[in-house]
Amino acid sequence: MRNYPFCAIVGQQQMKLALLLNLVNPALGGVLIRGEKGTAKSTAVRGLEDLMDEVTVIEGCAFHCRPGSPDMCDECRSKKEYKTVPYRRRVIELPVSSTEDRVVGSLDMEKAIKKGEKVFEPGLLAQANGNILYVDEINLLDDHIVDVLLDSAAMGVNTVEREGVSYSHPARFVLVGTMNPEEGDLRPQLLDRFGLVTEVRGEQDIAKRSELIARRLEYEKDPEGFCKKWEPQQKAMRERLTRAQELLPKVNIPESLYTDAAKIGIALSVDGHRADITLLKAAMTLAAFNGRTEAERSDLIAVAPMVLTHRMRRQPFDTASGLPADWESVLNG
Ligand SMILES: [Zn+2]
Repeated sequence: MRNYPFCAIVGQQQMKLALLLNLVNPALGGVLIRGEKGTAKSTAVRGLEDLMDEVTVIEGCAFHCRPGSPDMCDECRSKKEYKTVPYRRRVIELPVSSTEDRVVGSLDMEKAIKKGEKVFEPGLLAQANGNILYVDEINLLDDHIVDVLLDSAAMGVNTVEREGVSYSHPARFVLVGTMNPEEGDLRPQLLDRFGLVTEVRGEQDIAKRSELIARRLEYEKDPEGFCKKWEPQQKAMRERLTRAQELLPKVNIPESLYTDAAKIGIALSVDGHRADITLLKAAMTLAAFNGRTEAERSDLIAVAPMVLTHRMRRQPFDTASGLPADWESVLNG
């Protein structure tokens, strides 16, 4: 059955924006979506696949290297000639029951010792290269594996070491996790390392809620027909994403935004500078997504809740979210 179209998801604006921004800019550091069951978290993540682009890759490579990219694996790098094939980027799912070997891949030590050759059996991180790596119920995944995923996502490389033999391959992917906080939270050290975090709750608006049910039933009755009906919106979104990717390297940050980002970091008592940097990167990405080449204060304010809420050590403002009710007064003060 075809995935539910991303553009047909009712409401959940922040979750959708967090995911789309990571499609535009895979360097944002991934997304963690926290929320109760039945809030379309998985539907949204799986729905990204239909919005992802097609790229050209080297035929036969387990990591689907893109020719000429600085991230090519050693084998592709050493090839004098190669054929290329089209490759549709995708969402790779990592089951919570995965072992470390299944995730990082494994080395055949017998061959390594007897014949002196490295024989690497690729794992999920190999499949994830250039794609989205999705972990549902990421809070139930072994902490050590979450750590490995975050390391590899940050560095773009997966290195497997066993008994003095080591093998590395490109593993540049967007990590997306979903979880229900009622079933236990992630450790703060792990939470911190996600670029964006967004909270979802069930739709509280009656009109939207009924629209949501109507669309869901329509989809279940005739998935093909439903997807066809939503194709114009999906196509427009694909075009918007492509344009945003082209604009992103041209986005300028005015001097005043650096000051704004610093003020926000201090006012919200956020530790470290990673948050300030992610804040500016996310603002630039939003500017590109909105078709602009200049980031604005409004971009910064729009992305701040996704970048900062999980990084605050205490709640400096007396609001439900802990974020200021009036951003302008924080920035003009
Ligand atoms: Zn390769």
